[in-house]
Amino acid sequence: MAIATLLPATTAFIQRAPRMLIGAEWVEAGDGQTMPLRNPATGEQLCVVPRATVDDVDRAVLAARQAFDDSPWSRTRPRERQNLLWKLADLMQRDAELLAQLECLNNGKSAAVAQVMDVQLAIDFLRYMAGWATKIEGSSVEVSVPLMPDQQFHSFIRREAVGVVGAIVAWNFPLLLACWKLGPALATGCTVVLKPADETPLTALKLAELVQEAGYPDGVFNVVTGTGITAGAALTHNPRVDKLTFTGSTAVGKEIGKIAMDSMTRVTLELGGKSPTIVMADADLGSAAAGAASAIFFNQGQVCCAGSRLYVQRKHFDKVVADIAGIANAMKLGSGLDASVDMGPLISARQQERVWRYIEMGRESGATIACGGEQFGPGYFVKPTVIVDVDQQHSLVQEEIFGPVLVAIPFDDEADALRMANDSPYGLGASIWSNDLAAVHRMIPRIKSGSVWVNCHSALDPALPFGGYKMSGVGREMGYAAIEHYTELKSVLIKL
Ligand code: NAD
Repeated sequence: MAIATLLPATTAFIQRAPRMLIGAEWVEAGDGQTMPLRNPATGEQLCVVPRATVDDVDRAVLAARQAFDDSPWSRTRPRERQNLLWKLADLMQRDAELLAQLECLNNGKSAAVAQVMDVQLAIDFLRYMAGWATKIEGSSVEVSVPLMPDQQFHSFIRREAVGVVGAIVAWNFPLLLACWKLGPALATGCTVVLKPADETPLTALKLAELVQEAGYPDGVFNVVTGTGITAGAALTHNPRVDKLTFTGSTAVGKEIGKIAMDSMTRVTLELGGKSPTIVMADADLGSAAAGAASAIFFNQGQVCCAGSRLYVQRKHFDKVVADIAGIANAMKLGSGLDASVDMGPLISARQQERVWRYIEMGRESGATIACGGEQFGPGYFVKPTVIVDVDQQHSLVQEEIFGPVLVAIPFDDEADALRMANDSPYGLGASIWSNDLAAVHRMIPRIKSGSVWVNCHSALDPALPFGGYKMSGVGREMGYAAIEHYTELKSVLIKL
């Protein structure tokens, strides 16, 4: 058993009760209120962080507004923005182990996996976005109609930073989700107020320290910790915010979208999912089963694009399900500090309870629990679970559970698979497991989701836009698409 020893810097960070960054200052909440953070592996309190008030959020937005409108930041050249992002990525690389340990203690995920996945992906993403800083272009357009007789015109289109960004993120990949917002914002010259998830603010606060160390001007990046209902809502309603970018549940995302429309605040929404994994009869069944298991069980199933619905062509259904159950039964559960552990706890007692309710619902409705279906403590553990004998219209199949629970259904042919895969309110990701190129290419355009993976699942690249069809959201993160979402177009017409 290889239990990671906490770095002295990790312990020190937690013991000093981290504060929020507003402008140049590390502050407590205006009214002194705090909220406790828990270690999901033990249920014990880790530390407390400030519970921001509406006033705190307003001050953070004002700091970001001033930094955008009237600070050296507003005059930075693209090369400087590129270099600063590289510097920030380098500092994160230096502190990768510390960041991974904080993520582990705060979220429950494996520290070893967090270092090579969450932290490294965040670093790679910032470096990718640094590259865009010097490549943001407008265009010059020839005037297409005779606007005035005998007059000449010159016209061009500028691409400008959208302004102050209010970013609100979920708890499943705290650092990575924050960087998905921060990267394009800083590459384009925006300023940011980040509201991390109530449960997982620690890496966002460490990130803010690194932003300062990298040399960003005060107010460019602000972090307010607190609840969604107070701090998140205050950010959403603040008229000085130009763009809202949200990652979280579809229910909250819809509310934020409506509020944004009232003020025409620009908005991107990265929301829930219920992604299908489709195993065709010709697939390499061994890798399909291993891939399907990892698609649902990675990060305890708390992944927006987790492959939480499994469709297997009927003649191989029992074998693939048995193989996945075998993988699940062999998984070791425990603290994310233990590198030999395959699955950590869920984020909170509340999430454990939510996942458990779905499993009980399955049992009560006569579904078969092929494996797992147990919970235990004192941390918030749920065993990796596979459920069969369940109808396509069942809540287990239609609703996002956001835990290590896979529902599996057989299908007869390609049309049947596509019909069931698309029969969902969500459309974030989907994977097809097959070696039949023609079938794969027939299916890709017919799947209603923002990402389709073939013979892999949840493989994300900074260069590939990521986002949802249908109830999975509006807009895209990553790739040049993200740059577009953090900029406005301005058309200019000059009479010569
Ligand atoms: P959540 O919607 O409850 O919370 C997300 C964030 O919104 C948190 O920071 C929370 O404090 C804040 N919030 C809550 N109520 C708010 C309000 N009224 N106004 C403003 N902010 C508010 O979601 P969660 O439970 O933290 O995260 C899980 C969800 O996130 C899942 O549905 C998952 O699929 C989704 N998710 C999506 C993506 C993606 O890229 N599409 C990525 C990760 C997670």
